[in-house]
Amino acid sequence: MYLIKTIKGDITKVTDVQAIVNAANNSLLGGGGVDGAIHRAAGPKLLAECRTLHGCETGEAKITKAYNLPCSYVIHTVGSIWNGGRDKEEELLANCYFNSMKLAMENGIRTIAFPSISTGVYAFPVELAAKVAVGTVNRFLQDNPDSFDLVEWVLFDAHTEAVYEAEVDKIYE
Ligand code: ADP
Repeated sequence: MYLIKTIKGDITKVTDVQAIVNAANNSLLGGGGVDGAIHRAAGPKLLAECRTLHGCETGEAKITKAYNLPCSYVIHTVGSIWNGGRDKEEELLANCYFNSMKLAMENGIRTIAFPSISTGVYAFPVELAAKVAVGTVNRFLQDNPDSFDLVEWVLFDAHTEAVYEAEVDKIYE
């Protein structure tokens, strides 16, 4: 069996997972928000490895080592930029979660932490993002029930944490 949970905190500090997911941009060469925090904590070797990947399409995912972070891997995925729901933003955000989970499974990763992808600079509404995130991961886990032990969301602020927690609670009702 697996556990799905949320915590409030800094994803670069979590010590109970093998992989953390980065809300990256198409270049994979670093940015602000959680991306900047992950690169700062991992150190310059992460950027050097990311340069070899030649970017990432929106909704896709790529994996690197985690260098100075307390986990073993970073899965970089590129969220959708919110444009009023006109540009397949929901579908692309769902792809981020699906492709990150698939890549983790293929690499034998059983414990993984996500941030709230797309809800910072990319301005995706938090309530809808949480529905897409938790729904996609829950379906993936139901389809692959023996592949994971822990999936957690590490949320930076109390409001975002409350929204994701309410979504996760619905699974266990
Ligand atoms: P995006 O460009 O995909 O919107 P952002 O990094 O701007 O990504 O924001 C995504 C979410 O990550 C926001 O809720 C933001 O507050 C949060 N965040 C920023 N830094 C961290 C961190 N160190 N750990 C976890 N979440 C973070």
